[in-house]
Amino acid sequence: MSASRTSSLSLERLRRDGEAFMQEISREYYLAHSGQKANAELQPIYAKHAAILGDDALALTLEAFRGAAEGSEEQRAARLLLDWQAESQSGRQLAALDERQIAWEGSAVVNVEDGRQIQFETVSIEIGNSTDADDRHRIERARAKLVEEGLAPLRREHFQRERDITEQLGLAANYNATFELLSGVSLAGLKAECEQFLKDTEALWNETLPVFAKSVLGMRAADLTRADALALFRAREFDAYFPPTEMESSIRRQVRDMGVDPLAAGRITLDTGDREGKRSRAFCSPVRVPDEVYLVLRPHGGQTDWHTFLHELGHALHFAYMRPDLAFEYRWLGDNSITEGYAMLFDHLMKDAGWLKRYTQLGAKHLQPFLRSAGFEELHFLRRYAAKLIYEIELYGGEVRWDSLPDLYVDVLTKATSFRYDRADAFIDVDPRYYAVRYLRAWQLQALINETLVERYDVDWWRNPRTGPWVCSALFGEGQRELAHEQAQRVAGKPLSFAPLVRAVERMLG
Ligand SMILES: [Zn+2]
Repeated sequence: MSASRTSSLSLERLRRDGEAFMQEISREYYLAHSGQKANAELQPIYAKHAAILGDDALALTLEAFRGAAEGSEEQRAARLLLDWQAESQSGRQLAALDERQIAWEGSAVVNVEDGRQIQFETVSIEIGNSTDADDRHRIERARAKLVEEGLAPLRREHFQRERDITEQLGLAANYNATFELLSGVSLAGLKAECEQFLKDTEALWNETLPVFAKSVLGMRAADLTRADALALFRAREFDAYFPPTEMESSIRRQVRDMGVDPLAAGRITLDTGDREGKRSRAFCSPVRVPDEVYLVLRPHGGQTDWHTFLHELGHALHFAYMRPDLAFEYRWLGDNSITEGYAMLFDHLMKDAGWLKRYTQLGAKHLQPFLRSAGFEELHFLRRYAAKLIYEIELYGGEVRWDSLPDLYVDVLTKATSFRYDRADAFIDVDPRYYAVRYLRAWQLQALINETLVERYDVDWWRNPRTGPWVCSALFGEGQRELAHEQAQRVAGKPLSFAPLVRAVERMLG
C-alpha cells in the first residue's frame, strides 16, 4: 500500500491536490476569522489530504530541490514546494493546538476591574478609542492578565514545537538556517540592516515622540505604555476627514481612475461590516486564486480603517489579477514580501499629499499636520518591526532559554519604541514563521515600486488610466514567482534597502 502510494506521488499530483488542500484550509480560516463559524475544523482537512502532506511528499520535494541545477526554473519552483511541505509538517502536527487557539480568541472575555466585560477580539479597538490614560492602563492590565493565563501558554507551545518539528526535518543545521535555505533570505544580513536603521533614526525618534505624546495624549514620553501607542496612532483628531461612509466608494473610485476594476469582475468580495466573532485584525483570504478572494475588515473608525482597507485591497487585487495559468506554487506559495509589498504600495497612498487631497476630506489646511502624523507613525512601525525581527531571531535561535524570552522581548521592544511593553505578549506579539522578514522587505520593496511608477506614469500614477494595465500584467500577474530582491532589480534596477524609507520619513517630519 505504502509503495504504490509513493510511486503514484509526483510533482504534478502534488500541485493538483495541493491546490485543493490550500483552498479548503483557506476557506476554513476565512469562515472562522470572519466570525461566520465559531471554530475552525482544521484536523479533518489535514487528515483528508494526508497523502500529499506526509513524509513521502516532503522527500519528493527535497529530491526535486537537491536535484535541480543552481539558478534554474526547476530549482525556483522546487524551493517553494519544499518550503510549503516543511511548513505543512508543522501545520499538520500543530492543527489541534491551533484549533484551540482560534476557539480561545473567538470566545475569550476581558474582565476589567471596574466590572466591564470586553470581548478579547475588540479590546484593542476599545483601548485605541479610550481618551483617558488611566482607563487605557486599566483595560490593558486586565488584557495582559487574561492572555498570560490563556493565550500565552498556547503560543509558547506552538513556537517550541514548531522549532522542534522543523529542526527534526534535517534540512539544515537549525531553525534559522532552515528558514534561510527555504526563503533565500539572509537573516544575519537583514538583522544588521535593522540594527543600523535603529541607530540611524534614534535621534529623530527621540526628538519627535515627546512632541506627539504631549500634543495628542497630554502625556510625558516616560509614562507611555503600549496601550497608549494604540491611542496615539489611532489619531482620532483626523476622524472627521475620513468618514466611514465614504471609505469604500472613494477608494474604489481611485482604483477605477488608475484603470483597474476594484472588484476584479466579481472575483473580489468586500466584507467590511461589523460582526460578532470577526477578528479585529483585518485580512485578505484568497480562497480560490484568482477567482474567489475575500477582503475582511472589522471597522475601528477613522483613518485607521482607510489605511487598513487600502492595505488589504492591495492583497486582494494581487490575488485576483494573478494569471490563472501560473503554476500552483507561484499563485499560492512564494515570497510573501511580494504580496505585502503591493499591500503597502496601496496603504502608502495615505502618505501621498496629492492622493489625500483628491480622495479624502483633509483639504489643504489639515494636510501638513496629517502628513507629519503619518511620518511619525511610519517611523514608529519601522522601528517596532526592526526590533521584532531582532527579538524573533533569538526566539527561534535556541540560545536564549524560553523562560528568559519575555524579559528579552520587553527589553528590545521597549528600547526601540520607547513604549513600555508587557511580558505577557512575548509569545503573542510574534508573526509566525518570520513574517516580520516579509513585512520589512515589503516596506523596502514598495518604496522602489512607487519610485518606478512615478517615473513611468508621473507623480499621480494612482489616477493615470495607463498605470493599471501595466501593474496588472507586470506585477500582479506574475503572482509570487520572484523573490522581493529579484523583483526590485527587475522593476527598479536597485537593491532593497531602508534608505528610501528614511528619506521619506524625514520629508514627512520636516
Ligand atoms: Zn498584509
